[in-house]
Amino acid sequence: MVAASPGTISILCATCHQAIGLDYAAGKTPIRCTECGHTYHWDNGILLLGETGNQSDYPDESYALLADAEPRHFWFAGRNQVITATMRRTVGQLAGRSVLDIGCGTGFVLAALEQAGMTVCGLDMHMAGLRYARQRTHGLLVCETATRVPFVDQFDVVMLCDVIEHTPDDSIVLREASQALKSSGVIVVTVPANPHMWTIVDEASGHKRRYTKAMLTAAMEQAGLHILTMHYFNNLLYPVQALQRRLLKRRALASADDRLQIFHQSLRVPPPLINATFRIAMAADIPLSYLPIPFGASLIAVGERRE
Ligand SMILES: [Zn+2]
Repeated sequence: MVAASPGTISILCATCHQAIGLDYAAGKTPIRCTECGHTYHWDNGILLLGETGNQSDYPDESYALLADAEPRHFWFAGRNQVITATMRRTVGQLAGRSVLDIGCGTGFVLAALEQAGMTVCGLDMHMAGLRYARQRTHGLLVCETATRVPFVDQFDVVMLCDVIEHTPDDSIVLREASQALKSSGVIVVTVPANPHMWTIVDEASGHKRRYTKAMLTAAMEQAGLHILTMHYFNNLLYPVQALQRRLLKRRALASADDRLQIFHQSLRVPPPLINATFRIAMAADIPLSYLPIPFGASLIAVGERRE
C-alpha cells in the first residue's frame, strides 16, 4: 500500500534516538535499529514507533463519523483551502516539496496536499484515525505522540492543524515540530481563536484553550520560531460562531456521554443550502486574508526556525 512516496527518510529510534534510515517504499518489513537492536513493526502499513493512543479521547466510532463528515462538511474543505493558499503564498509551488502533518488524524489535509504534488508524511498517536489516513494517502504514516516527533531536519513544511490547543504545553509540541524542519522550512499552525468564544463544544472537543494572536505568538516564539505571517480566518463565520456561543454559554457538560454527543453533533453536516453558503463564506477567507481583518473564529500562522 505504501508505494508512491519516493526515497529514503531517517527516523529517530524511540529507544536510543539513533537515526535509522528507512526505505519507506517497503512499508512491511520490520525495522531494526542498528545501534540498540530495537525492532519496530508495521500495522497494516502504519509504522508503530512509540506510544500509541490506546487511551484515546474518543472511541473508534468518533473517527468513523469524522472520516464520513470531512469530505462533505463545509468546515473541512474550507480549512484545506485556507491552509493550501497560505502555504503557496509562503513557500511558492507545493509540488515536489515534503510535508509532515503532526496530529494528521484521518489524513484529510494530507490527502489534499498529496493531490497538490507534495510528498506527505503523517504522525498521530491514534491508530483509529491513522487507519483512515492509510486509505487516503500513500505517504509514510507513523503512530507516535506529538511530544516525541522522530524526525530531524527533513521537511520543507511541518503542519499542526488544530492540534496544539489539545496539548497541556503547546510550546513543547511546537519545538518538537520545528526540529523536523529543514533549515529553510516553514511550520504552519492553525488554532481556534478568541478565548471569549469558549463554549461547551471546545470542552467536548478536548480543547485546553482558544488563542489570541498574542498567545499564539508567545507559544511560537518560546519554541524558537520566528513568525512570518499570522492572520484570522473563518472571518465571515465569526458572527455565526459568536451567536452559537451565546446560545451555548450557559450549559455545562453533564457526563462523558454528553460530551461525546456534543462532539458528534459538531460533526453533523448542516442542511445542503447552509452547508453550501458556509462553504462559500470560507472560500472568501482567502482574498480577505490579504486585508488586516481583526476578527475571525480561527487563526493560521506560518513560522520558521530562528537560527
Ligand atoms: Zn535504537
